[in-house]
Amino acid sequence: MPNLIEIKNLEKSFGKNQVLKNINEVVEKGQVICVIGPSGSGKSTFLRCLNVLEKPTKGQVIFENQDLTNISETALNKLRERMGMVFQSFNLFPNMNVLNNIKLAPLKVKMISEIETTKKAHELLEQVGLADKAEQFPANLSGGQQQRVAIARALAMNPEVMLFDEPTSALDPEMVGEVLKVMKDLAESGMTMIVVTHEMGFAKEVANQVWFMDEGFIQEKGSPNEFFVNPKTKRAKEFLSKVL
Ligand code: ADP
Ligand code: MG
Repeated sequence: MPNLIEIKNLEKSFGKNQVLKNINEVVEKGQVICVIGPSGSGKSTFLRCLNVLEKPTKGQVIFENQDLTNISETALNKLRERMGMVFQSFNLFPNMNVLNNIKLAPLKVKMISEIETTKKAHELLEQVGLADKAEQFPANLSGGQQQRVAIARALAMNPEVMLFDEPTSALDPEMVGEVLKVMKDLAESGMTMIVVTHEMGFAKEVANQVWFMDEGFIQEKGSPNEFFVNPKTKRAKEFLSKVL
């Protein structure tokens, strides 16, 4: 499979705090990568560097043959549209109904027609199991439903890759499954995904590759089978003994 994202010598510091240390990785088209690791190890910063929500201190992020760390703001924004992102907090627009939340970016940023965005939004709501919620406002939905709308909203831009930062961490336990199910379906449809998660069951079942991050490095990576059954580094063993 062709490389979709190439991460070269990526480093990120906040003041004296070096959070990411010389990361070199490749994401192939269609891969589902789960990034796991202890709190504070740099997972969110890593994800935010991929679409340059955080500007790397050093190194390159190559996406669609362009170095995102070294292009104009306009070009960056154009490429960012092709990287969907879903956060722990859903951040839906509270003053708009579900349909308009999903339609907004394609309508305003991509200038796609009213008719087309409406049609696509309904299809996406169907896909995330919320066909009957189009007219609802976010406040009237459960956390799990809101997060599924957030996923639909990201998909409305037709992204090439989806970045998830602990999408189920803020949810009540009974709502985690419905969101993971939508993500699993998305993975099976061939979407390239990078998922920061503490859901080890999801990582085992859905990931092609697990990247274990600790202290700003990807310390270890492998198939879920390799990683969960036979972790190589002491740090990964310690981490797994706490979470499994
Ligand atoms: P994780 O997602 O693995 O919990 P983060 O990437 O959020 O880790 O954080 C890694 C480190 O970077 C932490 O020490 C955190 O305090 C620091 N950090 C993250 N974002 C910022 C920021 N905007 N300014 C300063 N320090 C930050
Ligand atoms: Mg984080």
